[in-house]
Amino acid sequence: MLSTEHSPSRVFITGGAGYIGSHVVLALGEAGHEVLTYDNLSTGNREAVLHGELVVGDLADRMLLQQTLERFRPDAVVHFAASIEVGESVRDPLKYYRNNSANALNLLEAVRAAGIGRFIFSSTAAVYGNPPTVPVDEEAPLAPINPYGASKLVTERMLADLAAADPHFCYVALRYFNVAGADPQVRLGQDYANPTHLVTRALKTALGIFPGLQVFGTDYPTPDGTCVRDYIHVSDLARAHLDALGYLLGGGESRVCNCGYGHGFSVREVVAAAKRVTGIDFPVAETARRDGDPAELVAASGRARTLLGWQPQHDDLDFIIRTAWEWELKLKKQR
Ligand code: UDP
Repeated sequence: MLSTEHSPSRVFITGGAGYIGSHVVLALGEAGHEVLTYDNLSTGNREAVLHGELVVGDLADRMLLQQTLERFRPDAVVHFAASIEVGESVRDPLKYYRNNSANALNLLEAVRAAGIGRFIFSSTAAVYGNPPTVPVDEEAPLAPINPYGASKLVTERMLADLAAADPHFCYVALRYFNVAGADPQVRLGQDYANPTHLVTRALKTALGIFPGLQVFGTDYPTPDGTCVRDYIHVSDLARAHLDALGYLLGGGESRVCNCGYGHGFSVREVVAAAKRVTGIDFPVAETARRDGDPAELVAASGRARTLLGWQPQHDDLDFIIRTAWEWELKLKKQR
């Protein structure tokens, strides 16, 4: 394992105004790094950037991207900006290839032109599709079953090919499992206009913002028939990015790492936890499957721990949901 303690560095973050990106910007700022966020604010919020400069720009704007990279001269780039909804990706696949694959190509060309050699990529467990064995490790077959996962896999391939061609370019791709929760100090959380993710939908239903929660499919080959996911607290995921940065700046070579805790919860278990934490028995309806959902995604996460030195702190579903709930209550008070 390489040391993750380094002198302050300059980090360029795409999508730093979004849910996960904003938690990483905050964690980097607290660790003394200098950060520049590049975000088109399509889903992100200006107020979520709690550290460093925000440049409002699109990854398709190659000129602005190039100018900003050359002005800021980062030691590393962390790339979050992407579209992230499985269901939407099935309905509108080209949006995903545009935002996730074509824009990543644009960014990589700009990064290369600016001579930057360290890159951290937000990838996803969706690249595995329906894995043949669970927990799934990084060597499992890459067989996405939805355009979201496929569009992210295109970028992973570009990164691998680029790293093979250029010995000065090194990357870490972090394959996120199901990210949930909010900053434990309630400074940040998820704040999308129309959230689709399970924990957020459940909590907004508890608040009466949505009339009921739908459980998408009860006939999966899982213990209770609903999909199983590995839910990871967003602050632990943020920590993995700092560890990946330390690893790369310490001379680590290109790798892919899962980010999950190594055990899963079914949709029904998450719903029960949301009711327990909130104390609200909100309405739930069991409906048909959602297109593109694999039955079970649980990480084998040993590599992130041994290679990056990742030490998650919040492996506790109720804690994850409690922090998200405190954030939802704060949002409700503000609006
Ligand atoms: N899900 C659900 N109802 C919802 C939102 C999600 O039953 O309102 C299910 C979804 O079908 C999947 C799991 O919850 O099985 C996690 O979905 P989410 O969208 O949170 O994350 P994903 O796994 O798609 O990244």
